[in-house]
Amino acid sequence: MTEGKSFFIDTTKCTACRGCQMACKQWNQRATEKTINRGSHQNPPELSFNTWKLVRFSEIEGESVAWYFFPDQCRHCMSPPCKEVADGKAKGAIIQDENTGAVIFNPKIKVKPTDFKEIREACPYDIPRIHSTAGVMGKCTMCFDRTKEGMLPACVKTCPTGAMNFGERKEILEKANKRLAEMKGVYKDAMLSNPDDIRVIYLLVDDPKKYHKFAVAENTIGITRKMALKRLFQPFKDLNQIVG
Ligand code: SF4
Ligand code: SF4
Repeated sequence: MTEGKSFFIDTTKCTACRGCQMACKQWNQRATEKTINRGSHQNPPELSFNTWKLVRFSEIEGESVAWYFFPDQCRHCMSPPCKEVADGKAKGAIIQDENTGAVIFNPKIKVKPTDFKEIREACPYDIPRIHSTAGVMGKCTMCFDRTKEGMLPACVKTCPTGAMNFGERKEILEKANKRLAEMKGVYKDAMLSNPDDIRVIYLLVDDPKKYHKFAVAENTIGITRKMALKRLFQPFKDLNQIVG
């Protein structure tokens, strides 16, 4: 695989306008969700089969009230744990494009509820969602139909503040590290979210949990190891079933 593409999401520039969320819906022709006023700007409340991009909005009370905006989406992991599980359960349900690195859920392959549960649990960012009756999964495709033609993803094209960026991985990493160095001078806790493991890199300037429970992976290596161990012991389990 080439180095592929990446996103850089600079949360210090995000105003929670939700333009990216709308553009994603519009370009990908996702059905709308019924929303209600729950006392939060975050609407709908969660990602779903039809909502692939969600601007999360947290209000944290301290000496004063602070707002944290987090445009959530699939991170297009370099070695996607979701695909690792799907390959052993529903071959072809998740594919990875060799040129861009985009991780794509195949809308033609059905997944059993029990297999979907394992796929979702494998994702360190809690992204996979499934259609309640059709049994097919849905999430961000990196606007594959646009990016393969050299266009920007719809969310990036729409963002009016420069919070959303997209391009060659090497250039995006340079941009992210340059901005991190600038922000470190202002916010001592400034950090990039798992930049070596994923293609959607966020700049955060405070405790990641204040943005979103799954903003940063706790331990991606641990998850991959856990899956590898499970596979290693699977043959013995199967053998026990045969001879037991
Ligand atoms: S963020 Fe989750 S759904 Fe997206 S590629 Fe990584 S493991 Fe798969
Ligand atoms: S379009 Fe840009 S500024 Fe608006 S919510 Fe999305 S990332 Fe934030």
